[in-house]
Amino acid sequence: MPPGGGRMGGPGGHFMTEEEKAAQPKVTGALLRRVFSYLKPYWKQFILVLVCIAVSSIFNLMPSILTGKIIDEGLIGRDMNLLITYIVLSLGVTLAANLIGVAESYINTWIAQHITFDMRNQMYAHLQRMSQRFFTSNNQGDIITRMTSDTAGVESTITGTFKSILSNSITLIFALVAMFQKNWILALLGIAVIPLFVIPTRKAGKTRWTLTREAQECNDEVNGILNETLSVSGQLLVKLFSKEEQEYERYASVNKRMIKLNIKERMAGRWFFVVLSTVTSIGPMLLYLVGGILMMEYDSSLTVGDITVLVALLGKTYMPVNSLLNIQVDWMRSMAMFSRVFDYFDMEIEVDNPKAPVTPAKNTGEVEFKNVDFSYDGARKILKDVSFRLESGRSMAIVGPSGSGKSTIINLIPRLYDVNSGSVTFDGVDVRQLDLGFLRSQIGVVSQETYLFNGTIRENLQYADPEATEEDMIEACKKANIYDFIQAQEKGLDTEVGNRGLKLSGGEKQRISIARVLLKNPSLLVFDEATSALDSISESKIQEAIDPIIKSRTSILIAHRLSTILAADVIYVVKDGRIVEKGSHDELVGAGGVYTELYETQFKRLDT
Ligand code: ATP
Repeated sequence: MPPGGGRMGGPGGHFMTEEEKAAQPKVTGALLRRVFSYLKPYWKQFILVLVCIAVSSIFNLMPSILTGKIIDEGLIGRDMNLLITYIVLSLGVTLAANLIGVAESYINTWIAQHITFDMRNQMYAHLQRMSQRFFTSNNQGDIITRMTSDTAGVESTITGTFKSILSNSITLIFALVAMFQKNWILALLGIAVIPLFVIPTRKAGKTRWTLTREAQECNDEVNGILNETLSVSGQLLVKLFSKEEQEYERYASVNKRMIKLNIKERMAGRWFFVVLSTVTSIGPMLLYLVGGILMMEYDSSLTVGDITVLVALLGKTYMPVNSLLNIQVDWMRSMAMFSRVFDYFDMEIEVDNPKAPVTPAKNTGEVEFKNVDFSYDGARKILKDVSFRLESGRSMAIVGPSGSGKSTIINLIPRLYDVNSGSVTFDGVDVRQLDLGFLRSQIGVVSQETYLFNGTIRENLQYADPEATEEDMIEACKKANIYDFIQAQEKGLDTEVGNRGLKLSGGEKQRISIARVLLKNPSLLVFDEATSALDSISESKIQEAIDPIIKSRTSILIAHRLSTILAADVIYVVKDGRIVEKGSHDELVGAGGVYTELYETQFKRLDT
């Protein structure tokens, strides 16, 4: 059976839903060229596939043509040798066609897998270059679907749709050519009866598809009722309001509709086969009749064998015609899939590496913000005219109410986002002119939400520096005040942290992430202090770890606790995206401004 034929008459899939119709991509030359560009590296294998498809399609038609010779020369000519020769030949080509089919499937799958592989890698690399904005504003499920299902769909397009178009077209063309060669009148007659087969097939397919969809909707409704009324709280409501009768009626009526639809659907299939078997026999009978008339009355060169061949070939055209008519939907779906994948590829990379990166003259972690304005969505300004300078070796604390823009300031330094106006410089160079890899290697961030990968503590530490020795790791852990904990574990550094580090407490995770940042050895350290209250022992352990570290390198601390604030050389107070105050704790606490308020309401309380 030709590809695609097996799906014929099934519950559908060859018709588009309204949504699909609305979302149909424009199939332009550019889109096709782009799709085929993925085939280019594999053009040799692709030609081999084409040859295999052509040869196996022709071989598949051979037995039908040989039937004529079996009848005319073998049976009617009463020649045993020829009879056996043709029979063997016929069996031989069938076997050969199947063997070539296997080879073709293999090469085809190979090409499809490689193209999918190329596309997935390209997509993954591209996604990694997308800015944080992309990941925060896109649904994670969508991103993963495009990564997996859409690229997998690309594979089925190549092994299914492309192959089906090729093999069905070749089969059809060869069958028609062979028919015309035998007798053009009968060939034309054959073509004329093809619609007799195709039209009912399509109509039945569509009817069943509509019924199946309706049945599905009905089924959803039934499930909805069950979920609603047979759940604990649903039942409680039904009982307390004495709605049993009413709910039963509702359920029974949908159930009844479902039964009707199911019967209809089954019967549509049944009628379809009645129609199909009748019309499929009309074609051959017509050919026998007209062929007989021609042979007996007008054309003595026409043989019994010729007529048999024509009938057999006619039978071979039905499926390809049907599949080719259905292919439009598959084709559109495939193109939609490709366009969705390409949409992602075409998304602009917001934060890109500069073409000619500048190397800074010094490497001290010095940061300067000059009149920085920033907005996440282009509408609401989050940072307004932020300017400050953090000299090398110094530390600053940023404090402010929740949502004032503290983390946003930090996000701009490693270019998770770019400023809208103004500039951020790192070691005297605008961050947009620095090599992104270099810039990010110079900044170590301990974020509020510590992210550890599923693996051992050692693996998580090595993420920062794969070359780190045991001694390096132990030293970093000691500095981060987590070594005692690690030593107390049975497996030490090889202790599993669990999914996202869930087997560890918040404080332990944070200290491991401090050790991880120390191994990275950045010139600028950023510590985004967790707002959620840790117990005071965890807190003081983190504090003990942080204090000496910030003394020895340039650091920015987003602080929520007085002890952290006091550890910094200077304090910047942020409110509504503006720096409103600057100074030391002593200077600010008595000033009666935002800091005083924060101190009274937050720091003082948290620290006592
Ligand atoms: P907290 O102390 O609660 O962590 P914060 O001062 O660090 O707060 P930011 O995280 O910088 O505040 O957020 C500042 C503002 O920007 C908030 O109003 C927040 O809603 C908004 N915001 C933060 N991240 C995004 C984002 N990815 N997209 C859009 N808006 C954002």
